[in-house]
Amino acid sequence: MANPSLLILAGDGIGPEVMGQVTRIIDWFGDKRGLAFDVSEDLVGGAAYDAHGTPLHDETMARALAADAVLLGAVGGPKYDALDFSVKPERGLLRLRKEMDLFSNLRPAQCFDALADFSSLKRDVVAGLDIMIVRELTSGVYFGEPRGIFEEGNERVGINTQRYTESEIERVARSAFELARRRGNKVCSMEKANVMESGILWREVVQKIHDTEYPDVELSHMYADNGAMQLVRAPKQFDVILTDNLFGDILSDCAAMLTGSLGMLPSASLGAPDANGRPKALYEPVHGSAPDIAGQGKANPIACILSFAMALRYSFDQGDEATRLESAVEAVLASGLRTADLMGEDGGAAVSTSQMGDAILAALDASL
Ligand code: NAD
Repeated sequence: MANPSLLILAGDGIGPEVMGQVTRIIDWFGDKRGLAFDVSEDLVGGAAYDAHGTPLHDETMARALAADAVLLGAVGGPKYDALDFSVKPERGLLRLRKEMDLFSNLRPAQCFDALADFSSLKRDVVAGLDIMIVRELTSGVYFGEPRGIFEEGNERVGINTQRYTESEIERVARSAFELARRRGNKVCSMEKANVMESGILWREVVQKIHDTEYPDVELSHMYADNGAMQLVRAPKQFDVILTDNLFGDILSDCAAMLTGSLGMLPSASLGAPDANGRPKALYEPVHGSAPDIAGQGKANPIACILSFAMALRYSFDQGDEATRLESAVEAVLASGLRTADLMGEDGGAAVSTSQMGDAILAALDASL
């Protein structure tokens, strides 16, 4: 059988630097674990604009659609700020998400013990935290019609429309329940059914999918405002949180801060499963291209490395190998090694991007 295919789009700024460490780790899994991938690379964002005058070439789009998974670094940078909106680097990423129809956005918030003091919350509230937010990504108020700024009488009115069809709710609910089965088997669905009709429908449909297809998973419902409070009060009560595009945008950023640094946060965006059961998938760190540190060897590669761990788990059904990689990262952090973004007040010497990669590879070797 052919090896699974991975398309790497390193992008701009620190994207290629952090992705460089990921490719070393991909090679390690090929050499040491017999997990070989057919890896190809292409351009996205500003790098694609420089080469082709567009942030995503049609051929790259076709390759992304054909790949078993796409790994993306980051896009953007000051060099491209003055470009027309239609060719800005971020448009490349938006096109990928849209044409791959990636409706389910997975944002884990995991607090490694060694970094618990980086959280703005108390250590005992966050140490050992491991939750996953599943955000609907392609519908809801950011896309609903009508939208715009209109004249009404003698003033203007700004309108956006929160709109969800049953099938849009069903597919993202399935994605959350499937995920819960691989984790703590609990889903908490968040909306505002007390004040929004779209919330009432959301709650009904999630309950129906649960009762008919996933009765073994524990399901609860919570108003999203209470969810925000609970996330900072007692986040460890959650396993998988399922929510819409707008609430998910806010709740996932809130949850991200529980864990400290932007350089640690991976993400996945999944679409519908193909005939082989594998979903269309894009894995990327949450952070951007960090132009302030690009080219200096200072970037933390862990968010991008943990994004590859998510690919192992969710695209390639290699949960044990994903855990091996996450444990290697945890062991390195526990040993006290830090990139600059993770240095505390008391200082110490930060390691470079590639030294962090070296240490994670050594920890992987030690895991054999
Ligand atoms: P950013 O995430 O690039 O950086 C924010 C801060 O966090 C910076 O101080 C940066 O140095 C630091 N940081 C980020 N990732 C880090 C890492 N891995 N290691 C160490 N420090 C890290 O956000 P920004 O500065 O608002 O945006 C910069 C550019 O990135 C902009 O052009 C923006 O449009 C783009 N952007 C892209 C994405 C994406 O590709 N998905 C996401 C956000 C922003």
